[in-house]
Amino acid sequence: MADKRILLDMTLDELKMYLLGLGQPAFRAKQVFTWLHKGASFAEMRNLPQALRDQLAEECLDLPMSLHASFPSQKDDTVKFLYACHDGNIIEGVLMHYHYGYSLCISTQVGCKMGCAFCASTLNGCVRSLTAGEMMAEVLLANRFLGDKGKVGHIVLMGSGEPLDNYDNVVRFLRLVNDAEGLNISLRNISLSTCGLVPQIDRLKEEHLPVTLSISLHAPNDTIRKQIMPVANAYPIGELMQSVRSYVADTGRRVVLEYALIDELNSKPEHAKELARLLRGLQCHVNLIPLNYVDERHLMPASPKAVQAFLSTLESEHISATVRREMGSDIGGACGQLRRRHLENNG
Ligand code: SAH
Repeated sequence: MADKRILLDMTLDELKMYLLGLGQPAFRAKQVFTWLHKGASFAEMRNLPQALRDQLAEECLDLPMSLHASFPSQKDDTVKFLYACHDGNIIEGVLMHYHYGYSLCISTQVGCKMGCAFCASTLNGCVRSLTAGEMMAEVLLANRFLGDKGKVGHIVLMGSGEPLDNYDNVVRFLRLVNDAEGLNISLRNISLSTCGLVPQIDRLKEEHLPVTLSISLHAPNDTIRKQIMPVANAYPIGELMQSVRSYVADTGRRVVLEYALIDELNSKPEHAKELARLLRGLQCHVNLIPLNYVDERHLMPASPKAVQAFLSTLESEHISATVRREMGSDIGGACGQLRRRHLENNG
């Protein structure tokens, strides 16, 4: 089972080659690709010969995961998902309903190895990276869950995992999900969030994919950043910002800076001023997130008053900023919390 090929990993051209190898005519590839990208199982691919369906099922996986559980919020339209991978790993995703449609937050790895001090995803380390087809399956299963209600139109790579630590699979996923023969989701509707792996940001710039780059900054200087983000030891904030400035200059895309406000540590007015100096002249938007409290972590969220003061200071410095609306706070808000709870309850 584990060595079966995941057909959803393949581009249309790769699928063509593969099916030609099985002696199939060229037109089959498009049929299979279209079915796969509708989330269909081999059994549902009714216009394929039975013998081919049997052969595919023997050698390959159609959907490489299933929806293990869903947790609708009582407060808003948000739904948290636990997905079961074909090898038994559990990952999570979040479906949010906005005025512009449905947005899905997907995981890119099982766990994470980046070690951020406030994040639940990293507590058990990184088990493995997800393949492009597995990320596709997260979207397809969300669409199936929605049924007649709609389709996922926006994607954020902000679930468990560090997307740029799984570079090739993530870039492959971006191209697959944008394929006109498949889901055809605009890259402009996709945000990729990273803790700041500088060489990979530079590499992503060269791909010329118009996704929105989101940087988890969380601090205005290295002294504070190193206390909460080990990645700051490898890539100092100066290098990171240089890479981000170059990304913005080359792509013309506004960058988003994520900043979780933690009591005392990074949320004082002087930190806001220092952040404004760091971002001066950069085409950017700051997303302020009141820290989601995680049991295993001993960091406290900044008070609502401190959050408002931080926002006002940034605004008075002419830095575009908003406070992220809390969604689904009753269903295990912070990254990786739901999966962690599942692991604890199921050994
Ligand atoms: N590894 C990527 C993407 C996954 S994390 C990254 O670091 O950007 C998605 C976002 O949630 C990041 O901005 C991360 O810093 C933030 N996050 C994680 N735990 C959090 C918590 N307890 N409270 C608030 N934000 C958190």
